[in-house]
Amino acid sequence: MNAPPQLSPLERLRYDNRFVNDLPGDPETGNFTRQVYGAAYSRVNPAKASHPQLIAYSREAAELIDLTEQDCQTPLFIQVFAGNKMLPGMAPYASCYGGHQFGVWAGQLGDGRAINLGDVINSNGERWALQLKGSGLTPYSRTADGLAVLRSSVREFLCSEAMHHLGVPTTRALSLTLTGDQVVRDMFYNGNPKAEPGAVVCRMAPTFIRFGHFQIFSARGEFDLLKQLTDHTINTYFPHLGQPNKAAYLAWYAEVCRSTAELMVQWERVGFVHGVMNTDNMSILGLTIDYGPYGWLDNYDPDWTPNTTDRVEHRYRFGNQPGIAFWNLAQLGNAIYPLINDVEPLQDILHTAWAGYERDSRLMLSQKLGLNAYEQILDEILQNQLIALLQSVETDMTIFFRQLAEVDFTTSNRENISAEHFMDTLTGAFYMPDQLTSGYVEQLSAWLSSYKQRLQAEGIRQELRREKMHRINPKYVLRNYLAQMAIDKAEQGDFTMINELLGILRQPYAEQPEHQHYYDKRPEWARSRPGCSMLSCSS
Ligand code: AMP
Ligand code: MG
Repeated sequence: MNAPPQLSPLERLRYDNRFVNDLPGDPETGNFTRQVYGAAYSRVNPAKASHPQLIAYSREAAELIDLTEQDCQTPLFIQVFAGNKMLPGMAPYASCYGGHQFGVWAGQLGDGRAINLGDVINSNGERWALQLKGSGLTPYSRTADGLAVLRSSVREFLCSEAMHHLGVPTTRALSLTLTGDQVVRDMFYNGNPKAEPGAVVCRMAPTFIRFGHFQIFSARGEFDLLKQLTDHTINTYFPHLGQPNKAAYLAWYAEVCRSTAELMVQWERVGFVHGVMNTDNMSILGLTIDYGPYGWLDNYDPDWTPNTTDRVEHRYRFGNQPGIAFWNLAQLGNAIYPLINDVEPLQDILHTAWAGYERDSRLMLSQKLGLNAYEQILDEILQNQLIALLQSVETDMTIFFRQLAEVDFTTSNRENISAEHFMDTLTGAFYMPDQLTSGYVEQLSAWLSSYKQRLQAEGIRQELRREKMHRINPKYVLRNYLAQMAIDKAEQGDFTMINELLGILRQPYAEQPEHQHYYDKRPEWARSRPGCSMLSCSS
């Protein structure tokens, strides 16, 4: 049967809201903050935005639900994705989850400012859940307001799409809308509350189910619900695992471990620091989820975290992310233990996945160097020395790897490379010229000599190496200061830079010489500016 012709493509979307159909909901329909027991979600409608204004949309995300750019520019699109209008087939709800925050069990958290609209089934039969972030109170809002400010919404919108184009698994962002309402935030929790423009991002993912969804049922002893949720997850997102049973639960856990480990390798590859790797911010699909006080490494520093809330412990620092991911996976293992009643297979899976992570991380670094494989005997020292070198003077990670591809060893026929010969090529990566002492240059020379030998052993031609390295080492990433510049302008009502960055970050591996000025290390003014080097959870 054909849909009536008067409906727009947006109104013709098909939904299959399986989460609400498969799982028990909260019988209480009032929208007030509470503990919700015996249910996976609560029905709730988004708050109305007084003067919605579309700032940006992602045409690639729109395409995933069969919408064109034209469709994104209609008044109906703006109303729907600001939360002002529900479409037929949508069934808005907020879900219940818990989590460990900074290593401590925090009890019920839940979608405190996220409202799921429904799962679209696109023309390829793929499922895309739509979720508004920042559209008002839900039963899970605890003491907060359910709203989001422009700055954090710009950061979520841009980074989601940038990560996708980098090839890093992530939730997506369809739209970024100003609500027209003000939101009060004390950005650094220091007694300086300020009114800021409110905004809503529409996110998309096959599902937004997190580790914390399993944890809350387990912690409360709601084991029937735990089983229902796990069965729902396997049936809907892991159907290849077959009928849910003990073997399928274990196979599923192994897949979650693998995809999470793979995500850590990908973050490592591009220099991304999530900032708040609490178990409620861990996607069951291994996606990057919940863009809060995240940051990108400018100078390579494994100890760095952008999150001011974590400034003492540095729990979520760059170099600690894989370890934390596995700590979180262990918590997920604990949560599903009642379905399995056997510790050993869970532990085995975790150990195997960690070994896989270590192997893949090493391989990824080899590939960043243009090598085909990681040969432990040849490469372990080479990699370790490089990691030490990158930290011994302030070295921009992105620029260093990108420029290393340009170092053409065929221009020097000496066995022992002199780094000075290549300094012009690499110089853009160094923050502090006075750190480039003769001692450092000597070390770099020695490393380049070993690297050259290794390349010769593999017989890789320069042109091919350059090409391969440019496919794995991005030229353009959403540096913290770039996002902040776009935010500063947006707060003045100028959204051009948001859309400009969205465009450039579509092709992070392409040269784009016309945008060369965005291929530059962090400027000095951004070194200690809030938003560029330090971010709080206030959003
Ligand atoms: P996060 O660590 O920022 O991902 O959030 C932790 C918990 O706080 C989640 O349950 C969020 O839904 C909730 N939350 C964060 N910000 C707000 C807000 N402005 N209003 C209501 N809930 C929030
Ligand atoms: Mg969160």
